[in-house]
Amino acid sequence: MAINDIIQNLSVIENRIATACSKSGRSRDEVRLLLATKTVSVERIKIALAAGQTLIGENKVQELKEKYDGLKDMPHENHFIGHLQSNKIKDILQYDVSCIQTLDSIDLAQKLHNRLAVSQQQIEVLVQVNTSTEKSKFGIAPTEAAKFCKALQQFHTLKIKGLMTIGLFSAETEKVRACFKILKNVQQQIAAACLENIEMKELSMGMSHDLETAIKEGATIVRIGTAVFGERIYPDSYYWNESNN
Ligand SMILES: *Cc1c(COP(=O)(O)O)cnc(C)c1O
Repeated sequence: MAINDIIQNLSVIENRIATACSKSGRSRDEVRLLLATKTVSVERIKIALAAGQTLIGENKVQELKEKYDGLKDMPHENHFIGHLQSNKIKDILQYDVSCIQTLDSIDLAQKLHNRLAVSQQQIEVLVQVNTSTEKSKFGIAPTEAAKFCKALQQFHTLKIKGLMTIGLFSAETEKVRACFKILKNVQQQIAAACLENIEMKELSMGMSHDLETAIKEGATIVRIGTAVFGERIYPDSYYWNESNN
């Protein structure tokens, strides 16, 4: 894809976000654009960063590692948006990831904490919630999320900032919206419990095809890949299923 296409696509996305914000009565700066960069080359990511983008997200520690040197001279922030396996924790902490959006087990939290405690570091995390109840997707069940957050309070190295979900893949907007509403409800429920050390400000939801619905339902971070960088060769199941990680 040519340079101009990425820049053009970014401006289309920016317009979609701005329009969705204004239609929802929200301010544009309540929503951050995260570029989902799985399979995207360093050269193409650099085009987006040079055009003023500041936040990217990778799904695999291996890709994060491969692109790290190529991107480290360009100021940007990195979130991790893939399923994190505990044997990759040591690696991921070497690549300046500021937020892990996919925390989904106490075991993972414990192992992250153990590593971070040794080096006296902290990291931001979002709790991934499975709002579509599809077995193929990771995440805590909505009904378990509050209990899970309480259990996370013991880990002072983890700064819990909010929730993340991958909604249902469906052309039916109302079904997708139901997923986002679930995430919002879970957020409100946890926020109402006023748990110490648990912030519930961030809602990471919405992708290329459903960002408008997500913004309407309260997204603070939308994660966009295809609409900026074009179609990927690998199906998303390659990135979302355990067996392939
Ligand atoms: C790939 C990916 C996205 C972006 O999806 P697009 O449909 O390409 O915009 C968002 N979130 C996660 C977790 C992803 O893996």
